[in-house]
Amino acid sequence: MRLFAANYRLLGWITLILVGGFLTTSFAAYMASRQAIEHSISEQALPLTGDIIHSGLQKDILYPVFISSMMAQDPRMVDWMRSGEKDEAAILDYLSGIKRKYAIVGSFIGADASRKLYHTYGPPDDLQEGRALDRWFFRMKTMKGEKFETNVDVETRYSGLPTLFINHRVLDAQGKFVGVTGVSVTLETLNQVLSSYQARYGASIYFVDGAGKVVLSGAAVAVDEGHLTTRSGMRDIAAAILNRRTEPTSLAYRNGKSDVLVNSRYVPELKWYLVVEQNVSGNIDPLTRIFAINFAVSFGVMLLVLVVTLLTVNRFQRALHKMASTDALTGLLNRQALAVLFRQTTLMSKRSRRPLSAILFDIDHFKGVNDAFGHMVGDSVIRQVAEIALDVVRESDAVTRWGGEEYLVLLSDCKLSAAIGVAENLRRRVADHDFGLPGGKFMVTISLGVAQYHDNESENSFFTRADDALYGAKHGGRNYTNASYVQDSTAQLF
Ligand code: GH3
Ligand code: MG
Ligand code: MG
Repeated sequence: MRLFAANYRLLGWITLILVGGFLTTSFAAYMASRQAIEHSISEQALPLTGDIIHSGLQKDILYPVFISSMMAQDPRMVDWMRSGEKDEAAILDYLSGIKRKYAIVGSFIGADASRKLYHTYGPPDDLQEGRALDRWFFRMKTMKGEKFETNVDVETRYSGLPTLFINHRVLDAQGKFVGVTGVSVTLETLNQVLSSYQARYGASIYFVDGAGKVVLSGAAVAVDEGHLTTRSGMRDIAAAILNRRTEPTSLAYRNGKSDVLVNSRYVPELKWYLVVEQNVSGNIDPLTRIFAINFAVSFGVMLLVLVVTLLTVNRFQRALHKMASTDALTGLLNRQALAVLFRQTTLMSKRSRRPLSAILFDIDHFKGVNDAFGHMVGDSVIRQVAEIALDVVRESDAVTRWGGEEYLVLLSDCKLSAAIGVAENLRRRVADHDFGLPGGKFMVTISLGVAQYHDNESENSFFTRADDALYGAKHGGRNYTNASYVQDSTAQLF
């Protein structure tokens, strides 16, 4: 029992060490890889993606800004507006030329003096102060410091589509505002551009204006997700994004269970921020899977090690136990094992109130056997006597080697008279046995002392009584069975 507890304690320690070791190394490797991946995404991949997208967008989005600026710089523009746009045909020609040449959706000129809006959608319109439709023009007129604005609006007059207008102030030589010119691009076109980048780089790409309002996004971010401060997880880093810095800013936030890395930069030409977001959970998931597989394999190895250890330890322990408790010559239990067995047997006997007896026997004149035939033959005799004893007693009885050529047999559930019967039987069997000693038949006999255990008796006293009985048998002439009868009248025999 104690042996088992010790075994399991050993296994517990091994498990603890293995699990601890596997977990620590796997987890450390996982964390290191995760950090390396996140670092490479946030410090290399994402800024690079930002750069590529930024320069790619130059062509697609900044292009209209340059055209708008170029139109505003055109010397004819001021002339036309000063002269009250007398040559309307030339103006419309110019606008459709721009539209055609640069593959722009629309271009327009709004003159302050005549309050007329020339455009490529159709005949000129009026510009009326106070009308919501024309508010942009009067905003441009009163604009201070800036030369242009980018403005996302629904093109209400003609197409009804969300459209990006790039409005540029036109100033005369004295710097006085004379009108607005610019181009329009439907968001559809721009969204397609953004979507293609998003698909290519597996990132969310969108623009926010100076206040953090989402103005342009591909399919991944709905414009009506509105504002940086209302996007979940973004709230905390919104202020850090809107920093007016044209160099890329690296940030991170958590959206539910996902870690999202953010790279943002201010694009002064648009007055917008380009935000590139990448959900790194997709990159981390395979790592988590590897970690799980790694752990499962480690766990399997651990189980294997535990099973092998348990089997090996048990086998060694059994072998050790056997070595410690059996006699090498006869294979009988030795005296140490008998001590343990005796304690168990007496307990059982008391509990079940069944008698217990012992036979202590010794080979007669054994010295003579040794002297006559040598020790090897002596050993063989000792072995054969053991075999006879095992054969004579019941399987439930224990035959042990008490010492040199002395044996002790414990007979459970056996009272003195029955034990004397067994002893006599044994004595006869030995006397009749042919031990195969050289020089024909040589008598080997044994003397036996029999005693029955009584409940208030110590181990020592019980065996002493058996030994005394044996001594009596020797004195009685050997090849003899002698019993010990208890004199104590209070002793209880079962
Ligand atoms: P008796 O018991 O009849 O009085 O005479 P004995 O000759 O048997 O006397 P004793 O018990 O004193 O001697 C026992 C001898 O047994 C002594 C020892 O050399 C021998 N002996 C003890 N153990 C072994 C053993 O394992 N192998 C052999 N060959 N001899 C042993
Ligand atoms: Mg002897
Ligand atoms: Mg002896």
